[in-house]
Amino acid sequence: MTSEDQQYDVVVIGGGAAGLSGAVALARSRRSVLVVDAGQPRNAPAAGVHNYLGREGMPPGDLLAAGRAELAGYGGELAAGVVTAVHRQDDDRFGVTLDDGRAVTARRLLVATGLVDELPDLPGVAERWGRDVLHCPYCHGWEVRDQAIGILATGPTAVHQALLFRQLSDDVMFFRHAGPELPDDEAAQLGALGIRLVDGEVAGLEVTDDRLTGVRLTSGYVVPRSVVVVAPRFTANDQVLAPLGLVAAAQEMHGQVVGSAIAADPTGASAVPGVWVAGNVSDLSAQVVVSAAAGLRAGARINADLVVEDARAAVVARREMAGAR
Ligand SMILES: Cc1cc2nc3c(=O)[nH]c(=O)nc-3n(C[C@H](O)[C@H](O)[C@H](O)COP(=O)(O)OP(=O)(O)OC[C@H]3O[C@@H](n4cnc5c(N)ncnc54)[C@H](O)[C@@H]3O)c2cc1C
Repeated sequence: MTSEDQQYDVVVIGGGAAGLSGAVALARSRRSVLVVDAGQPRNAPAAGVHNYLGREGMPPGDLLAAGRAELAGYGGELAAGVVTAVHRQDDDRFGVTLDDGRAVTARRLLVATGLVDELPDLPGVAERWGRDVLHCPYCHGWEVRDQAIGILATGPTAVHQALLFRQLSDDVMFFRHAGPELPDDEAAQLGALGIRLVDGEVAGLEVTDDRLTGVRLTSGYVVPRSVVVVAPRFTANDQVLAPLGLVAAAQEMHGQVVGSAIAADPTGASAVPGVWVAGNVSDLSAQVVVSAAAGLRAGARINADLVVEDARAAVVARREMAGAR
């Protein structure tokens, strides 16, 4: 078999927690499976994975390395690279092209390409992302407990984020930045919880000795802070799916768009027959363990779908054989 005509039961696009979990489930069901992974998991900047039972604090790269080893142990294949194109062939299989020019085919696709965190465009935010610029209290809230935390209002979830981080520290400030005036009830909640409101636009973050030290306002005044919380826009990595007619739909919160995701049923089946999705590409709030669970569920459903197809094909083949006698 040449590299141009390698055929798999399933190609998994994206080898993060979701893709690898689905692939392991498929490989353990003796499905031929190829995971193609560009190697840029969303939580790469973080020091550890939190809230993953039994793996608390494990470096993200170590968790994925363990997953890749488990996949290899069951005969699953992994290719480092980017899937650049996908199309449906006349024989109903999917043709998948990699950036190294390799082309393979698959009976089913599991798309687990994750999402991109589009950060507010302010000096210091991207540089400190995942270290002392954060978004998620469940990912690294405990690690910044009791610290001087600033909530940078960059989206509709800012007040909610302030309340969540207030659970972890008595010293929380809310930077209204370019956002609208807060409704009376929200301002009252912040006030009652001792969350101080800072008016004025933020110009950027102050960093000293590789450490966040403050929030600089356009007035030049610097408010000392050691942690800043922002609300990125969560944009699904859906580019590869467009030729199949799948495009991520806008996701709204409080009437505002906060990101996008590919729609799927609870098993991960998308609107396109044969294509399943799992993890952040279809659920922007899914954490690592939730993404892994979604990958497992999708993998199991793909296997079930293939089992039915194989059984039907076996019946047809048997009848044809009987008819030929
Ligand atoms: C800074 C930060 C810290 C976090 N900390 C935690 C935490 O402590 N605990 C927790 O539970 N969650 C945490 N999260 C959330 C966590 O990152 C996600 O839940 C998780 O990464 C989702 O897994 P996934 O498999 O869906 O996507 P990802 O992990 O993002 O994996 C997707 C993979 O697909 C690859 N890919 C994309 N497009 C292609 C393509 N065309 N071809 C091939 N490969 C492709 C990417 O390179 C990537 O390797 C954190 C998030 C951030 C941003």
